[in-house]
Amino acid sequence: MKLIDLRSDTVTRPGKEMLQAMMDAQVGDDVFDEDPTVKQLEEKAANLFGMEGGIFCPSGTMTNQIAIRISTLPQDEVICDHRAHIYNYEAGGLAYNSLVSVKLLDGDRGRFTADDVKNNVRPDDIHAPRTSLVSIENTMNKGGGSYYTIDQIGSIAETCRELGLNFHLDGARVFNALVETGESPEEYGQYFDTISICLSKGLGAPIGSLLLGTKEHMKKAKRVRKVLGGGMRQVGYLAAAGIYALDHHIDRLREDHQKARILGETLEALPYVDSVMPVDTNIVIFSLEEGISTSEYLAELDKKNIKAVPFGPNEIRFVTHLDFDDDMLSETVKSLRQITF
Ligand SMILES: *Cc1c(COP(=O)(O)O)cnc(C)c1O
Repeated sequence: MKLIDLRSDTVTRPGKEMLQAMMDAQVGDDVFDEDPTVKQLEEKAANLFGMEGGIFCPSGTMTNQIAIRISTLPQDEVICDHRAHIYNYEAGGLAYNSLVSVKLLDGDRGRFTADDVKNNVRPDDIHAPRTSLVSIENTMNKGGGSYYTIDQIGSIAETCRELGLNFHLDGARVFNALVETGESPEEYGQYFDTISICLSKGLGAPIGSLLLGTKEHMKKAKRVRKVLGGGMRQVGYLAAAGIYALDHHIDRLREDHQKARILGETLEALPYVDSVMPVDTNIVIFSLEEGISTSEYLAELDKKNIKAVPFGPNEIRFVTHLDFDDDMLSETVKSLRQITF
């Protein structure tokens, strides 16, 4: 029986065509700026989002950390939601790499508004940290894959401009948001100073993220990437996987969303489930009835050959992805219904 892995959309493996594209890549030393495939990927992604430039990095943590570093000074404060990846899952990097503190908001499933920004910006006072950066996450992982529309983004961007704040997008799953709203990534460029996108989540590449921004930003970003150990050599082999992913794996994210909705509906009807967060994209977060522990439940899933992750004291997360096919969906629905407590 095949393992059904719903822990994350990072667990996918490259398919034959992607591997072939990697094998065929033209490469050079990217630290010397000589890898044509990396350049091609960086230009492609920047154009897609209407930004001037991009740099290829090994991880989304690195692209976010670089963005924060080039958009702040030590002692500054970053505004983000308390569920944000940059705050919870980047090993304290904000403090460690950029010497900044955070102002945590409590948005609607992770989404805050322009007014929230206005109400939380610090006064110009020597006692206070200086607010310099606002960061949003789209889609929002801990919000159960909730997303912002371009209008909501536009109004936060306007406020940031009025208040002289930098605006960053942690877009690890931005393509999931875009296929749901039907909006174009090109519209994003006018609103954000920096954008981080991920190739190794829903898009199915084995590795890689890009930081996008102005030419000026990218110059600074390259130096920070170097100090973080992210200068890579013949990395066009990996960039080729990214190009393939951008060309072939965006539209199909809809299928992941449809499967996630079916999982959500299945769970809603089960006696051991207390509640299911609305399923907007490819993430399903649900809580178990009182008295059932996450470890007990995960052990039951494990017996059915299904893997998931605990996501809070009594919550579980499923993430659908490229390697979770129709047969696995039917198998999972059947198994979820068989589990009893
Ligand atoms: C996965 C993820 C990242 C980056 O993670 P890496 O594992 O470092 O690539 C950043 N932000 C969000 C919202 C993510 O889900």
